[in-house]
Amino acid sequence: MTTEVPGAFDPQLEQFIRGLPKAELHVHHVGSASARIVSELAARHPGTVPSDLEALKKFFEFRDFAHFVEVYLAVVALIRTDADVRYLTYEVARELATTQQVRYAELTCTPYTSVLPDDPDHGIPIEAYTEAIEDARLAAERDFGIVLRWIYDIPGESGLPAADATLDYALNRQREREQAQTNIRTCNERLTACRAQLVPTFAQEIRTCFVEISFEGMPSPAREELLSLPTTFSLPEAQVKRLIEVAGTLLRESPDFQKLVRALRNEKTIGAGAGESGNCS
Ligand SMILES: [Zn+2]
Repeated sequence: MTTEVPGAFDPQLEQFIRGLPKAELHVHHVGSASARIVSELAARHPGTVPSDLEALKKFFEFRDFAHFVEVYLAVVALIRTDADVRYLTYEVARELATTQQVRYAELTCTPYTSVLPDDPDHGIPIEAYTEAIEDARLAAERDFGIVLRWIYDIPGESGLPAADATLDYALNRQREREQAQTNIRTCNERLTACRAQLVPTFAQEIRTCFVEISFEGMPSPAREELLSLPTTFSLPEAQVKRLIEVAGTLLRESPDFQKLVRALRNEKTIGAGAGESGNCS
């Protein structure tokens, strides 16, 4: 995206940067699987993707964006069981934490492509998917000190059913969790009243925010200009600057995003609960 070619990198500087603690805010679950991880998954499910590391390197030489998508989908097809999902999540967390000193990561995951609700012969229940990523998250935090959070992604190419299903996965998990939290709170209030020992709470309470931003609501001609930008590996610098600027404005002007910022600051009252009129609980 930039025309400037950096000079020879100072190895001391590289080591310094490598050692800095980091937050990774945009990392794709399957897309960030290293050759080592893909090789293990390919060995579990022999077929299209080579498990030999040298052959894998060749397999990962992208010719263009369409080819990148083809390779990506072949790797997606290797994640077949909840054990695969757990392995992938835990190992991605291990590599982020141990090779890049990442302390906090927001992992973009696509539950729809693992659940495959319209394909009776493949896929896993959403409960098994959630349990696998949650189990990996807790284990990675315990073993490597990395904190993981999820961003559920909707695969646009699968259309509206994928959007509905993904929102359902997120909202239903959230409702179950809120219900469990309420039950424990009620139990503990009653136990406190009779001075009994309290039920231990293992996890922090979770607050959920749904933020929707898009170029659709922008005034013309910016709307048409931005919607016509292609998905590509290279954009001219001016377009990149424009996208960053527009994204910043959209977020600043989004009431839902402002609620999320207030939730992250731990402000108490920020809106209605999930599924109610507000978008933050
Ligand atoms: Zn992305």
